[in-house]
Amino acid sequence: MAALRDLDETQNSKTEDQASGSSTRSVHGGTRRKKAFNSLHTPIVQTATYTFDDTQDLIDFMENKTWGDGDSREEYGRYGNPTVAAVERKLAALDGGEDAVLYASGMNAVTSVLLSVLPSGAHIIMTSDCYRRTRQFCQTFLKRFGIETTVVPNGDYEALEAAIIPKKTRFIVSESPTNPYLRIADLEKVADLGRKYRVKTLIDSTFATPINQRPLEWGIDFVIHSATKYLSGHNDLLAGVVVGSADRIKALRDARGILGGVVDPQNAFLLDRGIKTLGVRVRQQNHNALAVARFLESHPRIERVWYPGLESHPDHTVAAAQMSGFGGVVSFEVAGDLKTTSNFIDALKIPYIAPSLGGVESLIEQPALMSYYEKTTEERLELGIKDNLVRFAAGIEDTDDILNDLDQALAS
Ligand SMILES: *Cc1c(COP(=O)(O)O)cnc(C)c1O
Repeated sequence: MAALRDLDETQNSKTEDQASGSSTRSVHGGTRRKKAFNSLHTPIVQTATYTFDDTQDLIDFMENKTWGDGDSREEYGRYGNPTVAAVERKLAALDGGEDAVLYASGMNAVTSVLLSVLPSGAHIIMTSDCYRRTRQFCQTFLKRFGIETTVVPNGDYEALEAAIIPKKTRFIVSESPTNPYLRIADLEKVADLGRKYRVKTLIDSTFATPINQRPLEWGIDFVIHSATKYLSGHNDLLAGVVVGSADRIKALRDARGILGGVVDPQNAFLLDRGIKTLGVRVRQQNHNALAVARFLESHPRIERVWYPGLESHPDHTVAAAQMSGFGGVVSFEVAGDLKTTSNFIDALKIPYIAPSLGGVESLIEQPALMSYYEKTTEERLELGIKDNLVRFAAGIEDTDDILNDLDQALAS
């Protein structure tokens, strides 16, 4: 380790990272210029524990826990890993945060933040249309610890303010864009409410990626991503990340050492490799999704299209003001019932039928049959999920090929 460390001399400064564009940050953000053995890539440090040269080395470690220049040194894999730390620095640079902490999955990130920060008896507010498992965690698990959750309708900031219980409400949990209707939170309004009432704010920014939206710059306290989606980008690993201020992330990293949701160094390497192409991938996905949304909106066999880049979307104005791209997911309603919709999906040749999003392959799903299979049509309607609803997650294929495929499937 000491030898590895000696070679890791120069590091891009934070100010350098902040000054560069998002693609440059994807490639170089947070990465040391010179790495062990002159390797271009950050080495995969595949170890569960770290050794000490002698007892004095151990005592030095216990005294300052660093390599002497402020960079953290660990004694055991659950507390940290150099490969993982490199990706954390890159993700912090991308989202414009001071630090970031990686977890074994997106849900692990969500649950770890809330478990680490909330005292018993606290109250949290969640906007509707949040990721289903996040809602379940708050409304069932946290409830067991005496933590109550109030769900307020998306986009209703008066209801959000009215739901705040002074001194009891600790967190506003929101998502932007949401799934499946791609609702956009007004990040400045959410952050202002948080500051006014001393409530922490958290945005799950998975659907946006740091290429399209950076919530910390609008005053949000914590940003979460399921790195399983766009950040890794190849549908081949699970990971999650939280980005925020140095002191908040340090507290989360300490808690991760207790909760144990660490990401494996191999996966961290794959994630790092994926992030390097984030800029080009996301711009192609933005482009494909907007083209799909426009094509479907003008198609007679489509009843309604949900995409924040369309003027017809309820949050288009907010999206245009705070995002530099509208994301790769389009939801739409096919003219017809559950079966007509399934027939259309089965006629498609390019997208795979699968949950998830953000990878290079286009994916498609009918939420009624994927996430809400066990429910009846009536129960689904209560949850706002129509039988004819389809979610299309654009990959990086050629735009014309995707449009032609949709066209032939709608004609059949
Ligand atoms: C997928 C997803 C999650 C959960 O992430 P995992 O990596 O699957 O645990 C959380 N939030 C959003 C918005 C997601 O799309």
